[in-house]
Amino acid sequence: MKPSRFQYVRPASIPEAVVALQRQNSKVLAGGQSLTPLLSMRLAAPEVLVDINGLSELAGIELRGSELWIGAIARHQEVLTHPLVGTHVPLIQQALTYVAHPVIRNRGTSVGSIAHADPAGELTAVAALLGARIHVVGPHGVRDILANDFFVGPLESSLTHGELVTGVSFPVLDSSWGSSCVEVARRHGDYALAGVCALVQIVEGRLTAASIAIFSVAGTPVVIDVLDVCTENEKLNLKVQSLIDPDTDIHATADYRRQLVKTLVAQALTEARSNAESRTS
Ligand SMILES: Cc1cc2nc3c(=O)[nH]c(=O)nc-3n(C[C@H](O)[C@H](O)[C@H](O)COP(=O)(O)OP(=O)(O)OC[C@H]3O[C@@H](n4cnc5c(N)ncnc54)[C@H](O)[C@@H]3O)c2cc1C
Repeated sequence: MKPSRFQYVRPASIPEAVVALQRQNSKVLAGGQSLTPLLSMRLAAPEVLVDINGLSELAGIELRGSELWIGAIARHQEVLTHPLVGTHVPLIQQALTYVAHPVIRNRGTSVGSIAHADPAGELTAVAALLGARIHVVGPHGVRDILANDFFVGPLESSLTHGELVTGVSFPVLDSSWGSSCVEVARRHGDYALAGVCALVQIVEGRLTAASIAIFSVAGTPVVIDVLDVCTENEKLNLKVQSLIDPDTDIHATADYRRQLVKTLVAQALTEARSNAESRTS
């Protein structure tokens, strides 16, 4: 099937992009790796596509104060291999190793993945767990949205019509923090049946923070503070199971996903802890 007719706009500046996005039924085109299949299947039929790939202000990855900023047209592959990301927010790269295949990572953008708000997306979980800030520009100026307020439901964010995400900032983690991302998918690079990102902090040998974000098991990533229960497996599992809401589909039953989550939570926390210990030693 071919996409329905649309007008293609390639703005030369951010203000021009914002003006173009004010038109009815417009959509941002970033890497196109999620949007193009939707257009081809006519599951999306925007009248105007605003291609942001020519906007150099949206390119790059930078340290800005105590945050790592990723621009809206930085490709997954650039983020996956960028030394600043590996040094300051390694969880992003841990998660990106599971995202799609090289051809898709060469074109797809990490910020586009967050803007798309797919509950199965690894980076949505990373953004939610780290409390990332999503930078937005629109007809009423600029604003920042905290990741926890950004993800509203499956493929639904709190962006309003005509808004463009210009970049996402992640807090930089010092060496007392350790992280991990684990998932199970039918094939490597497919969307996960279930996955878990974990973040722990160890100060002077003592666990001082532990939280997880579970993905692919609810309409948005499920973030849980588990410091109080993370050394007691049964309590940990009870807390986690009470907060997830997995579906049954052709790939797996809800019960199977619940079992997976139990195993993955334990694995992610163990790995994150061991990462923190090796970073501090
Ligand atoms: C075969 C296949 C396997 C995949 N596997 C995975 C996977 O395992 N995990 C995973 O997370 N992803 C996966 N993806 C999706 C991939 O990561 C996409 O690159 C990503 O979801 C979207 O990024 P994009 O730049 O391609 O966005 P696009 O496809 O261009 O846009 C996606 C949506 O987000 C909106 N959007 C994008 N950027 C902005 C912005 N700056 N401001 C406002 N709105 C914006 C668009 O309007 C559109 O609605 C897969 C894709 C394919 C085709």
